[in-house]
Amino acid sequence: MTDFTSRTDADGVCTITWDVPGKSMNVMSMAGFAELDGLIAAALGDPSVKGVILTSGKKDFAAGMDLNVIARMKEEGGDDPARAVFEGVMEMHAVLRRIERAGMDPKTLKGGKPIVAALPGTALGLGLELPLACHRIIAADNPKAKIGLPEIMVGIFPGGGGTTRLVRRLGAMMAAPLLLEGKLNDPKGAKAMGVVDEVVPADQLLPRAKEWVLGAKDADLVKPWDAKGYKMPGGAPYHPAGFMTFVGASAMVTGKTMGVYPAAKGLLAAVYEGALVPFDTALKIEARWFTHVLMNPSSSAMIRSLFINKEALEKGAVRPALPDQSVRKLGVIGAGMMGAGIAHVAANAGIEVVLIDATQEAADRGKSHSEGLLDKGMKRGKVSAEKKAEVLGRIAATTDYAALSGCDLIVEAVFEDPAVKAEVTQKVEAAVGPDCIFATNTSTLPISGLAKASRDPAQFIGIHFFSPVDKMMLVEIIRGKATGDRAVAKALDFVRQIRKTPIVVHDARFFYANRCIIPYLNEGIRMVAEGVAPALIENAAKLVGMPLGPLQLVDETSIDLGVKIAKATKAALGEAYPDAAVDAVIFPLADEGRLGRKAGAGFYAYDAAGKREGLWPGLADRWPQAEAQPELAEVQHRLLFAQVLEAVRALEEGVLTDIREGDVGAILGWGFAPWSGGPFSWLDMIGAPRAVEICEGLAERHGSRFAPPKLLVEMAGKGESFYARFAPQARAA
Ligand code: NAD
Repeated sequence: MTDFTSRTDADGVCTITWDVPGKSMNVMSMAGFAELDGLIAAALGDPSVKGVILTSGKKDFAAGMDLNVIARMKEEGGDDPARAVFEGVMEMHAVLRRIERAGMDPKTLKGGKPIVAALPGTALGLGLELPLACHRIIAADNPKAKIGLPEIMVGIFPGGGGTTRLVRRLGAMMAAPLLLEGKLNDPKGAKAMGVVDEVVPADQLLPRAKEWVLGAKDADLVKPWDAKGYKMPGGAPYHPAGFMTFVGASAMVTGKTMGVYPAAKGLLAAVYEGALVPFDTALKIEARWFTHVLMNPSSSAMIRSLFINKEALEKGAVRPALPDQSVRKLGVIGAGMMGAGIAHVAANAGIEVVLIDATQEAADRGKSHSEGLLDKGMKRGKVSAEKKAEVLGRIAATTDYAALSGCDLIVEAVFEDPAVKAEVTQKVEAAVGPDCIFATNTSTLPISGLAKASRDPAQFIGIHFFSPVDKMMLVEIIRGKATGDRAVAKALDFVRQIRKTPIVVHDARFFYANRCIIPYLNEGIRMVAEGVAPALIENAAKLVGMPLGPLQLVDETSIDLGVKIAKATKAALGEAYPDAAVDAVIFPLADEGRLGRKAGAGFYAYDAAGKREGLWPGLADRWPQAEAQPELAEVQHRLLFAQVLEAVRALEEGVLTDIREGDVGAILGWGFAPWSGGPFSWLDMIGAPRAVEICEGLAERHGSRFAPPKLLVEMAGKGESFYARFAPQARAA
């Protein structure tokens, strides 16, 4: 298989085209690197070649390094995986450096051949690091293209020279958002940032690249950092201006990441240390830090959950093998907060939508939610007037159920009341054809119970969105007892159409995400009642990588919702209800009107404009703080195990059937410490025996809710890990 081909024209311009067979996007492998190296060497050694254009045979340039290859580098590294990774990375650097030096004399910097990168579209990760090693980057004016280095989003940092080259090209300050936040730009934005040199109309891309190659002089090939007297833009760390940047960056990164992301620390260290030494040494430092980050279990877990498994789920890893079930016409019943959001994301993805509510006014209000989001998009330059008109044109807001005729999927998002939902189900079914799939967006009512109102429970399913619908990427699909495979396939195809990530779970109280997050909130509230300092609770959560402390999250989701859920749970469980200690805190708060952010009062205090001011001092009067406060680790273990043990129980009970869904769903659904790769990845990191030991201690001190589930105890006894025991390959074997 060849990933690259080379052709030299009559003018002596050699075009090397990257076109990985069988893939829609180019990704780089070690074999691909070797191939490219060979073709570049041949071009540089051929006297008839004047210069090289490096481009792509696809509409985009490249998605970057194949992350599966990076994940394997370590696994296949034998006894000394760090050495294997480091040497692999240094080999990549050598190839890129040969491109950058292009055969020039190392002393005079003369005699090299120009190499230009011509990017037809998206260029990400290594797909930009490679162009950064070329002498010029020309991008086609393709507003859909994304250019940048998003590695940090999956727990690594640009390790193919991108970190070192970008900082030397732009300065640390300008490079910071691109490296630390993985910020992507369209070609014009990338040109404005100085990441690419030129943007030209798409049909001019190759002619302009050729023109540049034929006109390039020796000096055009010398990178600033290879020229005498190079100074880093904005100043190196011991320059007064550079000093300010580096001190500020360190504080900012630690503040944002709470120090739990090894990649952010490694990146900063590589930038700082690299800025103090010559270029080739800086590359070596970058490779050392990259290796260090890759050797940390966090990076492998993040790559596995946030890239490999997330993509597998999006591509239908758990989809029943049935013909395409893409949605053509969607009916949304209930145009409130959720229904309006669902209608918007569907219309935005090109699906025709009928949006129904009890009154025309409510239906119109639902549609205007979409208008509001599109207007915001227009203000940010992301949505054109035509796009807005198109999307709104796809939403028909009405009270007339007859308009549902021809719908192939319905999503119901009316009040959380079984009687209302049953009535709506029957009204809908009288209006749609026999093959239409009916989905409910309920967050608390069992699907199998609601399905009883349907004429065909096999076509009845749960599609559970999270709020706000346009922002939250996870969708939980719930199979009721009688739900058939076509309904599951339909729900999965719908989620693929609206470009979100699905997990498929079985029907049980609170399904998966809410089942795990509620104990987290409750554990925080219990600690308030016990006299644990609220600031300790909140900070302990954040220092272990949770985006929000439990008390803040309760305020955001509202305390009265907590009360409602508590009452419903109590009614269902009777004597077995375990959370009276939680109710003793939230019921009085709700009675006093401290309902959380929406009331401007909750566990936190808010100013008149609704801005959160700090923890409410009144908490200490009501629940006095104990003199002896627990260790940070104890608080963190309580908060983490409250969630993680629910995930294990969900797996044990068959609510979850795939641990990939458990991990990806946890990060996307409720922000479970992303650095860990998810609850199962985290348990694998600490090992089942240690997890059992911690849980036994917690159970002794705080109650049986922490008693380790049988599955965990059994795995500890056998020395098993979740990914070894439950990985899809292991299951299939
Ligand atoms: P909401 O009160 O904002 O909206 C409900 C809408 O349904 C209202 O506009 C109401 O007029 C309409 N409605 C009620 N009865 C109707 C009927 N018979 N026919 C047509 N329309 C009717 O509620 P919401 O927050 O959007 O929640 C809707 C559903 O989504 C509930 O089942 C809820 O459990 C679920 N859900 C909510 C959230 C959340 O965060 N709010 C998250 C996930 C799921």
